[in-house]
Amino acid sequence: MDYKVLYRKYRPKDFNDLVGQNHIKELLLQSILNNKLSHAFIFNGPRGTGKTSTAKLFAKIVNCTNNFEGNACNKCISCLSYKETTDIIEIDAASNNGVDEIRELRENVKILPSISRYKVYIIDEVHMLSTNAWNAFLKTLEEPPKHVIFILATTEIQKVPITVLSRCQRFDFQRISIDVIFQKIKEIAKKEKINISDEAIIELSDLSNGGLRDALGMLDQLSKLNDKITIETLNDTYGLVTNKDINEMFEAYKNREIKLLIEKINNLNLKGVNSEVLLTKILDFLLQELINYKITNIKEIYNLEQLIFDLEECCNKKNKYLMIKTVLLKNIEDIAKDIEIKNIIEEEKIISREIISDKILEHISLDVLNIRVNNSFVNANLKLKKEFIKKWDELTNYFCVNGETKYLSLLKNTKVEVVSPTNVLISTKTYSNSVLFNLICDEISEKCKKIIGDSIKIICLDEEQWKKEKSKYIKNQKTQKYSYIEEPILKNDNKTINIATDIFGKELIEIK
Ligand SMILES: [Zn+2]
Repeated sequence: MDYKVLYRKYRPKDFNDLVGQNHIKELLLQSILNNKLSHAFIFNGPRGTGKTSTAKLFAKIVNCTNNFEGNACNKCISCLSYKETTDIIEIDAASNNGVDEIRELRENVKILPSISRYKVYIIDEVHMLSTNAWNAFLKTLEEPPKHVIFILATTEIQKVPITVLSRCQRFDFQRISIDVIFQKIKEIAKKEKINISDEAIIELSDLSNGGLRDALGMLDQLSKLNDKITIETLNDTYGLVTNKDINEMFEAYKNREIKLLIEKINNLNLKGVNSEVLLTKILDFLLQELINYKITNIKEIYNLEQLIFDLEECCNKKNKYLMIKTVLLKNIEDIAKDIEIKNIIEEEKIISREIISDKILEHISLDVLNIRVNNSFVNANLKLKKEFIKKWDELTNYFCVNGETKYLSLLKNTKVEVVSPTNVLISTKTYSNSVLFNLICDEISEKCKKIIGDSIKIICLDEEQWKKEKSKYIKNQKTQKYSYIEEPILKNDNKTINIATDIFGKELIEIK
């Protein structure tokens, strides 16, 4: 069944229409506008990512006699005859080994284009050419006539001889992002009056693996067979496992609802979901969870790394359904003890949502953090600590009186741990609080010199970090003398405040 109708119908008419691959479009347009055309290109990338469409559009634009800002005019003789022109020649190297075509090509390139400026040869799946065909082609590629442009397209660039690659300008096409495919399908479905739910579009985009052609092919097929396309339609047609399925599975897992979890997995099996597909989908999901966790540092409530490791082991096993169930059941036991810290996590989530960790870490670098921790231990003593705790209380008072809730909320959760003549180390319960604090600690010491003393540097660690540093210090203090290290000078002081406003907005999280 030919289900590529939609793809043909919505083939891009100009570069603006072309989905994704913006960097390639830009480079190609620049070369046209600056009149610096290469005579051989190689377009590499996964199927359905727009290689041939780009090649055809490019051919059209270079031949347009009055292209405007890199777009074809659609009025000149070249544009008008674009569809029937003999000056754009498509060769499919996959259909046979290509020797005859290449021989013919070698003869034909000498003949001038019929009406256009350039003869453009688009050779699809070029890696399929036989050795003989390559040899025949190479000579032409070395010295192409001025009126010829070659565009070679391939999904397997490693099979293209280096001698060929070295003569081509190379463009690597990326898989199109799910968001972009989603938008395009939505747009086309609307125009075609295809009734499809957003949820189904998401799955479809996901299923297409970054290839718009495949996505539209499926949309075409589904719309011919169904009046309304939903997740269930997709399920029935492709026996697929949806994001919703995986989410529900892990919801059950997190809540330790073993019966429900097993039921979910069995249902997927009954539905005919391929076990490898399921495993890949689960691993994708967990990896994403792990990334989210690494970014936000919200403590995961199950041992992700172990789970991923165990599940990866299943990849080589025969009965994957059974293995998946076994691994999940084994790991679910470990969650129990984590449940109790769930409350802390929930609390932390509220704050962490606001944080883009990377952005903050940029400010207090790891170096500065380590130096400050070190300096806090240099000549630290209990007397200094006691004195400072008083000052700290005074500071809280000061912020309270002046209604500075922004600082107050952060201060409330801190504990003074170590005080040296130059530095102070404080701790907070949660990591996110420590990050927030470090973000504005210099602001505080600058603002409150009068209370806490001149040029006192403060650093904040979360409980866990603090425990580590403490035991490290106890272990080292006999053998190692802590000496003062000068801090590197921060280049941009305004940065702190900018980042802070950026992240907090005006009303820094008004925590309880
Ligand atoms: Zn034109």
